Amino acid sequence: MPHIATTNPATGQVLKTYEAMSTEQLDDAIERTDLAFRQLRATTVDQRAQWMNAAADLLDAERDEIARIMTTEMGKTYASAQAEVTKCATAARFYADKAPAFLADEPADAAAVKATQAFIRYQPIGVVLAVMPWNFPLWQVMRFAAPALMAGNTGLLKHASNVPQTALLLEDVFRRAGFPEGAFTTVLVDSEAVDHILSDPRVRAATLTGSEPAGRSIAQIAGRELKKTVLELGGSDPFVVMPSADVDRAAEVATTARCQNNGQSCIAAKRFIVHTDVFDAFAEKFAANMAALRVGDPMDPNTDVGPLASERGRDEVHAQVRDAADNGATVLCGGEPPSGDGWFYPPTVVTDLTPRMRMWSEEVFGPVAGLFRVSSYEEAIEVANGTSFGLGSNAWTRDPAEQERFATDLDAGNVFINGMTTSYPELPFGGVKNSGYGRELSALGMREFCNTKTVWVGEGAASAGAGAHAE
Ligand code: NAP
Repeated sequence: MPHIATTNPATGQVLKTYEAMSTEQLDDAIERTDLAFRQLRATTVDQRAQWMNAAADLLDAERDEIARIMTTEMGKTYASAQAEVTKCATAARFYADKAPAFLADEPADAAAVKATQAFIRYQPIGVVLAVMPWNFPLWQVMRFAAPALMAGNTGLLKHASNVPQTALLLEDVFRRAGFPEGAFTTVLVDSEAVDHILSDPRVRAATLTGSEPAGRSIAQIAGRELKKTVLELGGSDPFVVMPSADVDRAAEVATTARCQNNGQSCIAAKRFIVHTDVFDAFAEKFAANMAALRVGDPMDPNTDVGPLASERGRDEVHAQVRDAADNGATVLCGGEPPSGDGWFYPPTVVTDLTPRMRMWSEEVFGPVAGLFRVSSYEEAIEVANGTSFGLGSNAWTRDPAEQERFATDLDAGNVFINGMTTSYPELPFGGVKNSGYGRELSALGMREFCNTKTVWVGEGAASAGAGAHAE
C-alpha cells in the first residue's frame, strides 16, 4: 500500500493514494520555493498582510469543506475540525495585523555603544522546511506558515503521510490568496526525504512538530548542516488538583483536557496528580465524566470522541493500558477497544500506577488518563516534574500563594492555573527538556526564523533611522 494516502480512520477504508515525488520533482519544488523567496522578500509587509487576510477569508468561506476533509483523513470530530479552521483564520489575521509591529526596527542605546544610531532589524532568512504532524493538520501548519510568510520567508511543507489532501489544500489556499507561486509549497514525500531537503543549501532552517525520535533525527541532520531548528515534540502534561480546588470544575475540564481531539494532542493533560484530600471525589467524578463520553462516527454532531488516527496508534495505546493492568494497575473505566470497523478506543482512566509501568513515563496518545495520588505540594511537584517531557502543565488551586509556587516550580513551557492548556496566537508556545526547544506563536515565534540583525551607525549617517522600517 502506498505510504502517502487518505485512509478514513472511522472505517479503515483507503480513499485516495499518492505517489511520492521523485528526487527531481522535489528539487524543482525547492527551486520554486527559493525563487519565490527572492520575490517575497522584496514585497512590503502591507502587501503580505493583504494576501494573508485573503487566505483567512478563504478559510472562513470554505470552512465546512476543509473540515470534512480533515475529519475524513484523521478522524477528529467535524465540530472540532470546523473550530480548527476558524482558529487558523484568526491566527492568519492576527499575524497580518501584528507583523508591522513585530518586524519593526528596535532602537538600542546608541550612546552606550558609541554610535550615532544603533538598532535591531528583523529580516527573513529564506526557505524554511516545515515537517508537520496529522493531529491538528491545519493548525500545526498555520501557526508556522502565518508568521513565516508575514516575515517574508517561504515555506516548504512536508506534512504527515496520512493527511495529503489537507497538505495540498493549504498550498492551494495560499496561492489563491495571492502569494507568489512557490511561496508556500507542499511536497509529497516520505520522511526519508527530509535529509535530502535539509541538506540543500537553499533550505535555511527547519521546524518540526512531532515525536521525539523525529526530533532527534531532524536535529542531527540540521546539526550536520549547521541549520536552525525549532522542535515541538511530545508531552505528558501534568494536571495537578489541590485541596482548595473547585473539584467539580476540575473534573469537568480534566475530561475535555484529556479527550479533546480524540485524546491526540501534545498539550493534552495526560497525568492527573490529585491531592489525597480530594482524590476520591475527583476520581469518582472524572471517571464518570470520561465513561459518559460518546464514542463514534466523527461526522455525527452527537459524538464526543472519534477514532484514533491509525490502527498502529490505537494498538499502541491499548498496549500501554494492558501493560499497566497486567502489572497491577486499576482500570476505573474503559480499557477495551470495541469490536467492528474503525480505530476507536474508549475514554479510559487508570490508577495505582508504578514506575515500572509504561504509562508512568511514556506519552499516551489517545483518550487514556493516568491518575496519581499525592499527599503534599512537594510530592505533587515531584511527580509532575518526574518525566522527560516538559511541554504544558496545569494546576488547580484557589490558594494564591500556591498558584504563585506552581507558576515557578512546574518544569514546562507553559503553566495554566485553573484552566486547561491551550495555544493562542498571542502567547508563545513550546517546551523544555525532551519536549523540544524554540517557540512558536507571538512575536517570538515570528522572530525564530528571522535574522536578528544588529545595525550600528557611526558618525555622518544621522539619516539612517530606526523604528519605521518593517521589511
Ligand atoms: P511523528 O511520527 O514524529 O510524525 C510527525 C511528522 O514527522 C510527520 O510528517 C512524519 O512523516 C515526520 N517524521 C517522522 N519520523 C521522521 C524522521 N525520522 N525524520 C524526519 N521526519 C520524520 O509524530 P506522530 O507520532 O505522527 O505525532 C504525534 C507526536 O507529535 C506526539 O508525540 C505528539 O505529542 C507530538 N506533537 C507535538 C506537538 C507540539 O506542539 N509540541 C503538537 C502536536 C503533536 P510521516 O508521516 O511521513 O512519517
